[in-house]
Amino acid sequence: MKDVKENLAFIQGQIAEACERSSRNPEDVHIVAVTKYVSVERAAEALEAGIQNLGENRDEGLLSKWEVLKDRPLWHFIGTLQSRKVRNIIDKVEYIHSLDRLSLAKEINKRASKKIKCFIQINVSGEESKHGLQPEDTVEFIRQLEAYENIEVVGLMTMAPHTDDEEVLRTCFRRLRSLKEEVEGMGLKHAPCHELSMGMSNDFKIAIEEGATFVRIGSALVGE
Ligand SMILES: *Cc1c(COP(=O)(O)O)cnc(C)c1O
Repeated sequence: MKDVKENLAFIQGQIAEACERSSRNPEDVHIVAVTKYVSVERAAEALEAGIQNLGENRDEGLLSKWEVLKDRPLWHFIGTLQSRKVRNIIDKVEYIHSLDRLSLAKEINKRASKKIKCFIQINVSGEESKHGLQPEDTVEFIRQLEAYENIEVVGLMTMAPHTDDEEVLRTCFRRLRSLKEEVEGMGLKHAPCHELSMGMSNDFKIAIEEGATFVRIGSALVGE
């Protein structure tokens, strides 16, 4: 297994090239190292390499790594979140990338002792296996979140379909971006919605060309 440091340098190079192609500033692209497949030692190696954001998709994984790493990283919860698990993670995380229903918003709001930065997960591709809101329900959902003072809607998140078809990926990311711009344009105080969480190991370059500000990278960065 390669050093995280080496992988990170390679990925940063690819990010810089994608930014160059799309006339973007690489400082606007944040890497969330997804450590769900790897040990806490490997996660610590990522922090030593300069990573600041760690992402986990299960409460057990987040808690076991948190026990060791505490508040050294900013923690991102990126997976499907069951309402009954919220209380386990809520005081550990800075970001939740998978808010997609009011029952979950209500629980987050109730358990949080500070504002939680939330991405609304959207099922852009329409695949049945994917979690997330339907694009057409997004605006109404976000309006309803105004009632929850501990939730700040920082942006939208999606998972693209599993495909190498660049056009399919691009279309998916573009649709998320245009939806983000629509919400951003509404100027809601509780939902500035400036960020786009999209792009993983296999598609982050395209996601960045289409506007991603948070890329969630696991296997290509820390390994599987
Ligand atoms: C696992 C996971 C990732 C990272 O996947 P890789 O393909 O290993 O980069 C990103 N986002 C979510 C929601 C995940 O569950």
